[in-house]
Amino acid sequence: MPYVFDFDHSHRKPPMDMKDLLGGKGANLAEMTSVLGLPVPPGFTISTDACRDYMADGWPEALSAEVGRARARLEKAMGKVIGDPADPLLVSVRSGAKFSMPGMMDTVLNLGLNDESVEGLAKQTGDQRFAYDSYRRFVAMYGRIVLDIPGEEFDSLFDAAKELAGTTSDAKVPTELLRYLVDSFSQIVERYTGRPFPQDPDAQLRGAIEAVFRSWNGPRAIAYRERERIPHDLGTAVNVQAMVFGNRDDRSGTGVGFTRDPATGERGAYGDFLINAQGEDVVAGIRNTEPLSALKGQFPKVHRELLDIFDRLERHYRDMCDTEFTIEQGKLWMLQTRVGKRTGRAALKMAVDMTTEPKIRLTKAEAVGRVTEDHLASVLHPHFSSTGHPVLAKGLGASPGAAVGRVYFTADDAAEAAARGEAVVLVRSETSPEDVHGMLAAEGILTARGGLVSHAAVVARGWGKPAVVGAEALRISGHYFTVGSVTVAQGDWLSIDGTAGTVVAGQVPLTAAEPPPEFNVLLEWADEIRAGHLGVRANADTGADAANARSLGAEGIGLCRTEHMFLGEDRLPVVRRMILADSPEEEAEALEQLRMVQRTDFLEILRAMDGLPVTVRLLDPPLHEFLPSTHELAVKEATVGLTEEEQKLYDAARMWQEANPMLGTRGVRLGVVKPGLYAMQVRALMEAAGDLAAAGGHPVVEIMIPLTVSREELALARRWVEEAVAGALAEAAHQRSARGKPAPKARPELEVTIGTMIETPRAALRAAEIAEEADFFSFGTNDLTQMTFGFSRDDVEGRMMSAYLELGLLPRNPFETVDADGVGELVRLGVSRGRSTRPDLKIGVCGEHGGDPASIAVFYQAGLDYVSCSPFRVPVARLAAAQAVLAGAPDGRPAKAAVGKAGAKGTKHKA
Ligand code: PEP
Ligand code: MG
Repeated sequence: MPYVFDFDHSHRKPPMDMKDLLGGKGANLAEMTSVLGLPVPPGFTISTDACRDYMADGWPEALSAEVGRARARLEKAMGKVIGDPADPLLVSVRSGAKFSMPGMMDTVLNLGLNDESVEGLAKQTGDQRFAYDSYRRFVAMYGRIVLDIPGEEFDSLFDAAKELAGTTSDAKVPTELLRYLVDSFSQIVERYTGRPFPQDPDAQLRGAIEAVFRSWNGPRAIAYRERERIPHDLGTAVNVQAMVFGNRDDRSGTGVGFTRDPATGERGAYGDFLINAQGEDVVAGIRNTEPLSALKGQFPKVHRELLDIFDRLERHYRDMCDTEFTIEQGKLWMLQTRVGKRTGRAALKMAVDMTTEPKIRLTKAEAVGRVTEDHLASVLHPHFSSTGHPVLAKGLGASPGAAVGRVYFTADDAAEAAARGEAVVLVRSETSPEDVHGMLAAEGILTARGGLVSHAAVVARGWGKPAVVGAEALRISGHYFTVGSVTVAQGDWLSIDGTAGTVVAGQVPLTAAEPPPEFNVLLEWADEIRAGHLGVRANADTGADAANARSLGAEGIGLCRTEHMFLGEDRLPVVRRMILADSPEEEAEALEQLRMVQRTDFLEILRAMDGLPVTVRLLDPPLHEFLPSTHELAVKEATVGLTEEEQKLYDAARMWQEANPMLGTRGVRLGVVKPGLYAMQVRALMEAAGDLAAAGGHPVVEIMIPLTVSREELALARRWVEEAVAGALAEAAHQRSARGKPAPKARPELEVTIGTMIETPRAALRAAEIAEEADFFSFGTNDLTQMTFGFSRDDVEGRMMSAYLELGLLPRNPFETVDADGVGELVRLGVSRGRSTRPDLKIGVCGEHGGDPASIAVFYQAGLDYVSCSPFRVPVARLAAAQAVLAGAPDGRPAKAAVGKAGAKGTKHKA
């Protein structure tokens, strides 16, 4: 396979589909040249293969000869020779990776100029000034990019030259000064490199090509790839292209154009141009550009030609394209095109519009494939109106959207400030159930510790509140925090971006969330595609969250974390009373109080999801979360002393203290040590279901036991649940007959199934026997990730995840995107073993991965029936589920019936 391809090379398939080899820019230059016949300055592309070989073993032997031959062909086509002292051909050398990485890699323009050819250029163009201006640009660019000389060295001299000339405009620096600058720039080069500026065009070309290869591994490019999740081993292609000059004269210019508006999606050409300028001038924003429409008055023929090209590009690519073009002395040249980046609003509008445009005719499936998670997030959540704000600290983007408020450090202070009408950002080291009222009152939440499945992250995501967690650089101390030398005190303004995980001091203006009308249209198409294949439910713990989830398209609740129902200020004391109970009577009394409040909560949830399945997970809290901090009480005991109540709490907190509470008395284990607890919850739930059924509703209840590891454990828990269900139904029947009301004949059936979470490696391994006791499984991939890696879910991300990602030890944060090879393997194993003993086993996932598109694809391939995620991620999950279905069916698995219509055949109880 050759390394070098001319733009007009005849490839066996459309070059636009060869981005792997030619890079995005090279593939589209070839498409424009060889397929569309557009006016593109000739050139050639050095493939990504060459870059990869260069990175592995240095400059490939064969490359020099291939570049030499391609250069000769280019020179022949142009009738000019690079470096020719009489009439030189100049070329640009540009990077072009498979995925666009705007501004992250390097470009060298005007290559081929030297002390002799600059005179040739001056003669040919009759323009000394133009020739020397091109040369000084080249020496500075080459010096900075190829020879690693700090750019300021050249910039400060150029600024001084402008000052000397008494102008602020680059175009007004006189020729004499430009000549002088070229000399001075060459001296800078000699000072830094110990050698004169390279005069030989071959050496210039090789230097520039190598610099572009190297820029693939520059810090900017690496950081960009990490953020955009672009693999590091792709390498970049290099495009060598004959230069055309937008800065020749006033009949020349350069610009960028979009075939429709990339911000709004409106039809019609859009863009900017500059007369008498080179591309870098437009990008640098030094001069004010003119809108593309102004081209019509000044270059009517070019304007017509450009619009015609835009039309052809849209037809051909069947999408919005962006372009770079140059006008050289009245002639239009196309320098680049690609399918253009766009805002979320524009992406939705374009995708929907293009299904009905005769020249494009997208299918609904294609339209669904054109919208990304980021597009949806940007219309669902507020975001910073502008970019480039200095980042004070960085953490994990735990809950998307941006928020601005005054900083408060305790939940009480935050709640009080919010009650006064202030916008608040709550800043904590980490949050616990005791902080919930402050979190609720805040616009956004920032923590110094914790990961993507920490309390703060999970709760904020559930409410759709922006949150940044694990911002380790924050040093919080009382009523202020510091980051390095910056101090932010209580009451100061702070802005956080929960999508990017950034913290900015002060007030950044926000753009409100505004889903356009196409939002629902597109998601309904996504629903049609995934119907019968992959359901989407929500993780919701209150009636309000459930109603919100349903309005966002959830088809049921996949996880109701009942411990979250105890977070309210009025509930916490009751839970504490239950934990502190000295006698069975006291415990029973506290449980009775909890039952009353749970019953109301459950009714609200079941009502909001009437007719759809609701998976209620029985209590799964590390008990210490419901007790005050031992540390704080120890301090108080040693200073002002404790009240009797506090002393009891302190004793209990110490008794329940665990070295690693995330592996301690959680889940079903809590049920084992406090057996009355689960019975109480089931009773409350069944009463609520009975109330709803009596009111004509149709509750579909799924009772879920958390953290089981064996058949015996689940069998025990299942027995409690069945007894409690039977008891609740008998009680209901008794009360009815006491009121003299016989059960109506047409009384709807209460659907109740009993299942378990699969959250430990053992549970996945022993899924076959666990399934004998389960009507359904739901993978708790938060804990499964924690336990498979042995990564403490609350600690590991802030401390070491970034190091692991930077060193390439992990491809992605496994708490964000499921580890397809390890945790994914346990999921696949759990599915096949579970269904081996129970073929009709309904299986879902309710870990935070249920809202992550890449994870959703893994779960679909594993054969899951549904994913469940926080309400605000439901739209993203609907889209991603459809995209996963479009990507192809799981191996050997027939299409399944839609979730929610075909429930698992579980225990059905007559009400
Ligand atoms: C899980 O572990 O994935 C899960 C959903 O449970 P929790 O996050 O509440 O432990
Ligand atoms: Mg769990």
